[in-house]
Amino acid sequence: MADPGLQNLIGRAAGLLRGAQRRVAFTGAGVSADSGIPTYRGAGGLWTRYDPDKYANINYFRKDPAYYWRFFRDVRYPALDSAHPNAAHAALAALERSGQLDAIITQNIDGLHQEAGSERVLELHGNTRRFLCQQCAAVVDLATVWNLLQSALPPPCPECGGGLRPDVVLFGEMLPEQILRQAVEAARSADVMLVVGSSLVVQPAAGLPVLTLEHGGRVLIVNVGDTPLDGVAALKIDAGAAEVLPQLAALLEK
Ligand code: NAD
Repeated sequence: MADPGLQNLIGRAAGLLRGAQRRVAFTGAGVSADSGIPTYRGAGGLWTRYDPDKYANINYFRKDPAYYWRFFRDVRYPALDSAHPNAAHAALAALERSGQLDAIITQNIDGLHQEAGSERVLELHGNTRRFLCQQCAAVVDLATVWNLLQSALPPPCPECGGGLRPDVVLFGEMLPEQILRQAVEAARSADVMLVVGSSLVVQPAAGLPVLTLEHGGRVLIVNVGDTPLDGVAALKIDAGAAEVLPQLAALLEK
């Protein structure tokens, strides 16, 4: 049965978005939780068999790349392979198509926004379906790497035999400069930023909604669980993205 409190909040969120000129979404792992990709934080969020301090850290990757590749082969690839965009990804793509969303800034590395049809996606942390050779700079796709992984770990570059790495930003690395510049610009100029499924604790990405606030914009948060910006957000909806976003998009389509 529909929850009148939730309906009311979604109605208010639609009103705030409708009144805005420049609308930007900022998404995190929670938006893909209903696609079966685990988050780092929040209930049920931990990938318990592997330690993020190891598989997501550049210093550890340099020391022991096989740890990352085993994690990729055993945990990440199976999750990616079976994941499809959910109703939240679809709603954000529909909002962009109807001119009601200018861009998505995402911390996600799963490529599901693009698969759902979103076009202006600023990937702050790269994309885990893409790989780079650290020796010859070849760009290698997921299917090729998956084939290589069947017989070699770590997988060698198909061009030169050098070491491959995921095209993702690992802890201890800088964010891609050009993408970050575009994201900062989008955050500064947004009069509404819609945060979806982010704990807002991973820096520097989590500083982007703060930029929106500092430049006079408003922040709406749809997240299961608390975030450090709940107290300064114009509106906080503590509910699942795949439940809230389709209803929000439906109201805005009217
Ligand atoms: P996070 O894991 O820190 O936080 C996710 C938040 O989403 C939590 O507060 C959680 O309670 C909430 N949540 C869980 N299910 C939800 C749902 N159905 N609807 C709404 N909210 C839900 O994620 P983050 O803020 O994105 O930061 C984590 C870092 O991990 C990022 O840098 C990101 O690159 C990476 N990461 C990416 C993926 C992905 O690409 N899908 C998955 C895990 C982690």
